[in-house]
Order: sequence, then structure tokens, then C-alpha cells
Amino acid sequence: MFRIALISMFLTSAALATTTALFTDRTNDPLCTQTRPDVEGPYWIPDSPQRSNLRDPGDAPMLDLYFSVVDQDCGPIPNAWIDIWHADADGDYDKKGWGYRGHHFADGAGYSILETVIPGLYPGRTSHIHVKVQGDSPSIFTTQLYFPDVPENDDDFFYHPDLEVSVIEVDADGNMIAEFHFVVEDRHGCPDINGDNYVNVSDLLTIIDQWGLANAPADVNDDDIVDVSDLLMVVGNWGECE
Ligand code: FE
Repeated sequence: MFRIALISMFLTSAALATTTALFTDRTNDPLCTQTRPDVEGPYWIPDSPQRSNLRDPGDAPMLDLYFSVVDQDCGPIPNAWIDIWHADADGDYDKKGWGYRGHHFADGAGYSILETVIPGLYPGRTSHIHVKVQGDSPSIFTTQLYFPDVPENDDDFFYHPDLEVSVIEVDADGNMIAEFHFVVEDRHGCPDINGDNYVNVSDLLTIIDQWGLANAPADVNDDDIVDVSDLLMVVGNWGECE
């Protein structure tokens, strides 16, 4: 069963002002199947600025999107990298600058909040948000997020209902609070603790350094303690990550 976690925070948006955000805890969800991938499209630009608020003053309708990132064992992925790009409210992409583009990191429990606007339509596409997510695995997951009850969804080749955000609240001005849960590849396939794409002596030294700790990055098999089982995973996956 889902458990609702109450997390207090301030949102910068006055219209969406609330001090309580609802996150659904997927930790015990038996259905943590990987999120459906979707095409990258033509407008991604690498190395976006780090920011989770993409809004400019006066932007409307506002969208506050609560993310959680878990692996296929429903374990939270702390500090997951989340890269966002989407069209503005008129359906135009900023192809020269960083408008409505940015990356941020989930917190230690795999949660984050994106503050932006609801993207407008452009020819051939329904309203959508492009996203890339990377956890501990070296692979980067790419998909798109959609909104429920948008008439153009039915005519969009890439739209899929599994990729709809869950709407929590919409106010009279159309400002929306919604959430989406990413389930991405876990790190079991490659215990590359320091993210240099190699499982080598540096990872081994990290394990020794964090020996006996709970919830430490060196706990590569997620059994809540850094021990010999993690050491064996590193030795067993020695070399370059796929
Ligand atoms: Fe697009």
C-alpha cells in the first residue's frame, strides 16, 4: 500500500502557496516497474544550468512538479540528476539560451520539486516536458511527461498515459501542482561508487572507508550496511562499466 509522507516546505509561488507537499512514498510499492522511456526529440542541449526553478516573473500558468526517483526495488535514489527542457507557455523552445532548461538533483531521499510553467502546444505535439534522469547507474534515462485531459494527447504519436503527471491541485487560474514518480535503472549492474565509469581501486577504497556504515554510497547492494557483500560486488564487476 502507498504511504503518504508529509513534507513541509515553502514554495516560492504565491498563487500556489502552501507549506505542505504531498509525496507518495513508493518504497514499499510492489509495482516499481521502470518508467516508460520516450524519445529525446530535437531540442535537448547538454550542460544546462543547475536550477530547479525555471520560471520568469509573471509566467503563467505555473506548474510545481514534485518528483521522486526510485530504483526497480522501490528504493529511493538519493541525489539523482534530473535534467529538464520544455517549450514556453506559447509552445516555443529557447534554442539559443537556457529558457525553460535546467538540471537539479533530488535530495537524500530521492525527492525534488521543479518550478516552471505549463508548456504550450506546438505543431504536432501535445503539452509535454522532456526529462533525463540519472541515478547511480552510468546510463541516462530519457522520457517525456504529459498532462491528463489535454485534447491533443490523443493525436500525439509519442504520448502515453503511463507518462502523465498526477495532478494534486489546480487553482482557478490554471496553476497546477502535480507529481511524477520515476523508476529508473538501479546501480546493481555496475557498482561504480564514484561515478568515473570504472569499477576499480578507488571504489574499493571507498568501501573500506565507509565500512560498517548504513545508507552510505558504498552500500552498492542496498542492504543497509557497507560490508563484504559490497566488496564482492565491486570485485565481481571490476573494470569499465557498460
Ligand atoms: Fe518537445
